[in-house]
Amino acid sequence: MIDFSDFYQIIAKNRLKHWLYTLPAQLGDWQNEHAHGDFPRWQRVLNKLPRLTSSDIDLTSQVSIGKAEDIQPGERKKIESLLRHFHPWRKGPFNIYGIHIDTEWRSDWKWERLRKHISPLQHRYVLDVGCGSGYHMWRMLGDGAEFVVGIDPSTLFLMQFEAIRNFANRDQRIHLLPLGIQELPKLKAFDTVFSMGVLYHRRSPMDHLIQLKEQLQPGGELVLETLVIDGDEQQVLVPAGRYGKMPNVWFLPSTAALKLWLEKVGFVDVRIVDIDITSTDEQRSTPWMTHESLNDYLDPSDKTRTVEGLPAPKRAVLIAINPD
Ligand code: SAH
Repeated sequence: MIDFSDFYQIIAKNRLKHWLYTLPAQLGDWQNEHAHGDFPRWQRVLNKLPRLTSSDIDLTSQVSIGKAEDIQPGERKKIESLLRHFHPWRKGPFNIYGIHIDTEWRSDWKWERLRKHISPLQHRYVLDVGCGSGYHMWRMLGDGAEFVVGIDPSTLFLMQFEAIRNFANRDQRIHLLPLGIQELPKLKAFDTVFSMGVLYHRRSPMDHLIQLKEQLQPGGELVLETLVIDGDEQQVLVPAGRYGKMPNVWFLPSTAALKLWLEKVGFVDVRIVDIDITSTDEQRSTPWMTHESLNDYLDPSDKTRTVEGLPAPKRAVLIAINPD
């Protein structure tokens, strides 16, 4: 069982207290639904990880916990083989006692692209919607955030997150809950909300933007990152079938359209701060993610197209303020 009681005790004393009206029942249902299948097996692996305590934690330029020389080679081998049970590792990289978890994505590159544009995270309550394994949450903590909550419905990502947190002295300033954004009440409590790589997976993008807005305090900041296309504010691509072999892609707006959407649902001071074509150095297969990756999703004779003939992945970061 993943124990969420630490989280309940902490929020009972902070500004997320009102979440306790709905959260324990929802997570109780989640626990019941995950009593079978992969989850108990992963849980056993998690319980086998040694509880090492380290003061050597760097979250400012990377996510690195413990030094190689702090443990014996035999122990490192054992930890590495346990961590490999959580394959595929998509978001990272992580460095754990000299074990370099080389993930499919260089998530650190995304962080470098956007961190200079956002309001400083010092003393902020942060929500990371669709946080994956939690890589960016650690970097948010490294940049001074006071309390970081991530939500992501993927059970494997939760296990990867808890495996890393095991080595970070089970840090109580950072928590991942296995929920989708649509399951959250209107908390209106966070200073910064991130939604990165999620919007194109949502069937109702306007509802997604509204749900993000409902998590922010007045004056709070949204950091939105998603796939975009070229074009004016009325241009949106709805892939007829798959996009880059992904079956669950719904809306790819132009950056101008995205800005319009944000303004239409009531955000102000909307800024487009970054546009970037995803490279096959940023998203690729590795020993920790041995399945297909971006290179296999692109047309071999024209890398500006996906295998379906659609524009290759281009991603934008927009920042917007919730006025109310
Ligand atoms: N934010 C990370 C991960 C993006 S991958 C990054 O930018 O690198 C997209 C994630 O969104 C996946 O982990 C997926 O499980 C999650 N997701 C999908 N539907 C969601 C929903 N309804 N609410 C929250 N997260 C969702």
